[in-house]
Amino acid sequence: MTYEVTLIPGDGIGPEIAAAACEVLEATGLAFAWDEQSAGEATLVSEGSPLPERVIESIRRTHIALKGPITTPVGGGFRSVNVALRQALALYANVRPARSIPGVPSRYEGIDLVIVRENTEDLYAGNERMVNEDEAESIKTITRAASERIARYAFEYAVLNHRSTVTAVHKANIMKLTDGLFLDSCRKIAAPYEGRIVFQDRIVDNMCMQLVQKPEAYDVLVAPNLYGDIISDLAAGLVGGLGIAPGANIGEDAAVFEAVHGSAPKYAGQDRANPTALILSGALMLRHLEETEAGARVEAAVREVIGEGAFRTADLGGTTGTKAYAHAVAERVRALEAAA
Ligand code: NAD
Repeated sequence: MTYEVTLIPGDGIGPEIAAAACEVLEATGLAFAWDEQSAGEATLVSEGSPLPERVIESIRRTHIALKGPITTPVGGGFRSVNVALRQALALYANVRPARSIPGVPSRYEGIDLVIVRENTEDLYAGNERMVNEDEAESIKTITRAASERIARYAFEYAVLNHRSTVTAVHKANIMKLTDGLFLDSCRKIAAPYEGRIVFQDRIVDNMCMQLVQKPEAYDVLVAPNLYGDIISDLAAGLVGGLGIAPGANIGEDAAVFEAVHGSAPKYAGQDRANPTALILSGALMLRHLEETEAGARVEAAVREVIGEGAFRTADLGGTTGTKAYAHAVAERVRALEAAA
């Protein structure tokens, strides 16, 4: 069987880490037909849109995509391709595991968190306007439907992945209506899981402090879009940085797998970027395709290669280039496969 997967290399370091991830995924022995689709600034120049319809059509057809990061201009310029893609495909759940990897320089050990972030609404939807030239406003919309859907996803994820606790993150003491609705929805969804999954909630500022002080006390976190965005970078920092933080955007009909990090333009084209986050996003993709053993093998290969220390990229204190690191991980995937 061949898996047809839409491949969006992205820009900045995107094409280099996408090539690395494809090499590692192919080392599992599974067959992939990559439907490569460009998006971002270059396609804005050549096709008049940073997210041409052909990209969405490809993912609608394949139902699955592996995506490199895409640069979003700050302030003016085009809207985020990443946000547009999530909205166009109704990718409502952004799942971001943050797990310590032995050997990665970090202040903590043994962290195993999963952030489940609502991906379609909240301030992050970018519903903003200038009221007048001295005043701007942003509309924060939270709906019961989207809140219940993400809470249900978090609880089902917890059950399927043998996790014990779901913590809802909010600021309902101040935003009593919007975050209040989110929290209320989480409580409602939590009720039937009582006895199987522990439910608790934390106010977002306290959550940040507690994650820094005792991250091992937390398990699955469910959050509205903006808090989820910020907390997942915080969690990536806890385990040693953006270079190793994978992510998945899940919808009813499609799923897009991408690293938490951005396009790191200063490292573009230098064979210096760490492709681990996208490789691990690829492992999440394999698990989504129910290729659980292949996904586990990719994760194990990454952990072993980094743990042994001979091949580490510059962000992890090593000197190995992107390509050589990917070859080492791919080689290890093949060795694990042969030994199985
Ligand atoms: P960034 O994640 O690109 O970089 C933050 C820091 O981490 C930089 O020092 C960078 O060099 C480093 N870094 C990130 N990934 C790395 C890797 N794989 N290997 C080694 N070092 C790595 O964040 P930024 O600088 O805020 O954003 C750059 C651009 O990326 C912006 O245009 C932003 O909008 C975009 N972005 C895109 C996505 C996406 O496509 N999903 C996500 C976040 C940011």
